[in-house]
Amino acid sequence: MKQLNTVYSDIIIVGNGITSQFLALRLSKILGNRLAITIIDKEKNDSRTSEYVRSLSVSLSTVNLCKSMGIWELIEPHTHPIRKIIISHSVSNEEKRSFLNLDNRVNDEVASYIIDERVLRKVISEETAKFNNINLIHTNINDINLGDDLISIKAQDQILTSKLVVAGDGRKSIVKKLLKIKSISWDYNQTALSCLIKHKANNDNIAIENFLHTGPIALLPMGKRISSVIWSVQRDKIHEIKNICDSDLKLSIEKQFKSYIGEITAIDNSSFFELNFSIAQKLYVKRCAVMGDAAHSIHPLAGQGTNLGLRDIISLSDGIIEAVKYGLDIGSINNLQEYQRLRMPDILTSALAYDGINRLYSNSIVGLNPIKDLAISLAESIPIIKKNLVKGGSGLAIKS
Ligand SMILES: Cc1cc2nc3c(=O)[nH]c(=O)nc-3n(C[C@H](O)[C@H](O)[C@H](O)COP(=O)(O)OP(=O)(O)OC[C@H]3O[C@@H](n4cnc5c(N)ncnc54)[C@H](O)[C@@H]3O)c2cc1C
Repeated sequence: MKQLNTVYSDIIIVGNGITSQFLALRLSKILGNRLAITIIDKEKNDSRTSEYVRSLSVSLSTVNLCKSMGIWELIEPHTHPIRKIIISHSVSNEEKRSFLNLDNRVNDEVASYIIDERVLRKVISEETAKFNNINLIHTNINDINLGDDLISIKAQDQILTSKLVVAGDGRKSIVKKLLKIKSISWDYNQTALSCLIKHKANNDNIAIENFLHTGPIALLPMGKRISSVIWSVQRDKIHEIKNICDSDLKLSIEKQFKSYIGEITAIDNSSFFELNFSIAQKLYVKRCAVMGDAAHSIHPLAGQGTNLGLRDIISLSDGIIEAVKYGLDIGSINNLQEYQRLRMPDILTSALAYDGINRLYSNSIVGLNPIKDLAISLAESIPIIKKNLVKGGSGLAIKS
C-alpha cells in the first residue's frame, strides 16, 4: 500500500473564501511567521475573480477590521459610500408605498459601503501572498480524524495535520459533514437575481430596498450611473425573470427605481443564487472551529453574510493570538468554547432578524399588509428606532 505523505502546519483552514483569507491575513499580520497556515480549497479557478461583478455591502465593523489590518487605504478608493437608505413596502408594484428613510451614519461615520467583491478579494489575495507562512493547496478532502493533540485531514495523496482546523468552506461545508456537525436549516424557496445596471440619472449614493410580496428587491450604488440590483423572487416565479428578454427585465427594474435613477441604459452580469437559511448547532468540535457561511447562511436582504463571517474571524483570531502569546494550545477546547460563546448571540440575532423580515414581507397574505405598513411607518416616525436600525446594520453593538 502506498505510504501517504504527512505534512504539519499549525492551522489548516478549509476553503479559500473571503473569510478564510481574512483569517489567514489577520493572524499573519499580527503574529508574523509564528504560525504555519495551510489553506485548502477544492477549486483551482476562482470564478469570483473573473469577469463577473457582484456588489458587496461592507459595514462599519468590516471597515474597522480593514483599518486595524492596515488595508482600508487600499480598499477605500474602490468603495461607494451609502449616504442614505430608503426602505419601502407596496402591496403591488403600482400602489402607494410606505417609506422609511435612513440617514446611513453612525457617530458621523458612514455605516456601510458598496464594493465590487473582486476588488476586495484582489487586495486580500495580494496582501496574503506577501506572507510565506501561508500555503494554499488545491485538493479534495476525504476524511478528518480528531485526535487529542492533533487533528488530521486525509486529502488525496497526503495527510495534513495541525493543532486546529477551521472550516471556512461555505454553506455546503464538507468539514461539517465529515464531523457530523448538525445545522438548523430551511429553504427560503427563493432565488436571487444579481445584476449590474447602467442608468441615466445619478443614484446620489442612495441604497433602496423595496419589499414586494414576491421578495425584496434592492438597488445598491456602484458609481454615479452604475448600480447593482439584488432581486429575491419566489422560486416558482423566477423562471419568469430568467426567461424574459433584457428589455422586459429593464422595464421591471425601472418600475421599482425609475424615479430615482431614470432610464436604464444597460443590464449586465446577470447571475442567480439559491437562497437558504442555515445555522450550525455548534461552532466547534474538538480542535475544529466553524466560521463564515459554513456556520451561518443568511438571507441577503441586508447584505450582511460576509460582514457576519468577518466578525467570526475577529473573535476566532483574537483567541488564537492570545494562545500563541502565552504559549498555550491554539486548538484547546477552552479557546473554541469561548469563540462560540462570543459569536452565537450575534449570529442568532442577525440571522433570525433578517429571516423574520423576509417572512413578514415576502408573502401575499392580505391580512398582513396593514402590519407591514405599520412596521415601516412606526420606524419612520421614531428616531431612536431609525438610529438603532442603522447601527445594527453597521455591525457595531447596540447599546441602550
Ligand atoms: C445574492 C447574494 C448577495 C450577497 N450580498 C452580500 C453583501 O452585500 N454583503 C455581505 O456581507 N454578504 C453578502 N452575501 C453573502 C456572502 O456572499 C457570503 O456570506 C460570503 O461569500 C461567505 O464567504 P465564506 O468565505 O464564508 O464562504 P464562500 O465564499 O462560500 O467560500 C467557501 C470556499 O470554500 C471552498 N470549498 C467549498 N467546498 C470545499 C471543499 N469540499 N474542500 C475545500 N474547499 C471547499 C469554496 O471553493 C470557496 O472558495 C450575499 C450572498 C448572496 C447569495
